[in-house]
Amino acid sequence: MPDEHGRRRRRKRPARSEQARWRPTRPHGSLDAGGPVRVHDEIDEKALEAVRTWIDRAERIVVLTGAGISTDSGIPDFRGPKGLWTNNPGAERMATLRHYVADPAVRRRAWKNRLESAAGQAAPNDGHRALVDLERRGKLHTLITQNVDGLHQKAGTSPERVVEIHGNTREVVCLDCGERAPMTRALDRVRAGENDPSCRTCGGILKSATISFGQGLVAGDLLRAEDAARACDLMLAVGTTLAVFPIAAIVPVAGDSGARVVIVNADPTEMDHLADAVLRGSISAILPRLVAPTRLR
Ligand SMILES: [Zn+2]
Repeated sequence: MPDEHGRRRRRKRPARSEQARWRPTRPHGSLDAGGPVRVHDEIDEKALEAVRTWIDRAERIVVLTGAGISTDSGIPDFRGPKGLWTNNPGAERMATLRHYVADPAVRRRAWKNRLESAAGQAAPNDGHRALVDLERRGKLHTLITQNVDGLHQKAGTSPERVVEIHGNTREVVCLDCGERAPMTRALDRVRAGENDPSCRTCGGILKSATISFGQGLVAGDLLRAEDAARACDLMLAVGTTLAVFPIAAIVPVAGDSGARVVIVNADPTEMDHLADAVLRGSISAILPRLVAPTRLR
């Protein structure tokens, strides 16, 4: 039976009558009104209960996280109202490979930034910790993150379960010979006065081991993410607007493979229409409630 988007119904799905399509019931046009209470500040309790039951029954949950899970740790997102690139358009240049390679001034600014963000070490929040609990319950298959902040591992998620699809800032990589080294060592050189440290092996340009604009994803990581999406019985997308491809495509891949799709985000996403449940509100408030086992309430 095709649904409203003309897609084939996914297998292993309960009939529509049994399966609530949990959506916020009130229109979101009022979001822009700027009143004291925003619609999405109220957690949809019925949807939350339903998702808890689904998580209780699930055996292989794949989680995809984006910047939204780390904003409560004080790490700004990119394009939101307080976003990094909204307030500082130059930051987008630093994240673009072409500019980084061509312009030493961009690199010097990037190293200065890295030094500053290393000093302001962010800590994981309850959202990250909830996903650690999900792993302890034996339900976490793979955690795919678009974030480069390393906060999932810092919170306690096993590194072998994490796919950092956009790389990480723990390492630097030489753009010429590909050699990797710990970020701390490169930052020591910056502190010692090198404002654009180069590769000690070949003299090439060093960059944090993140995926910049204009740089392809690591094929093995993307493959692992897709395989996990096909194998999961529940896909939980958290803190991402699901607008960044190709990684966002794993959400429909999971859905088409029969998994339930749950989206938790402060704002509407590109794929709300594909989801079995959409929960809006504070991620660090919602996730701990979602993953606590129903019977322990
Ligand atoms: Zn090199």
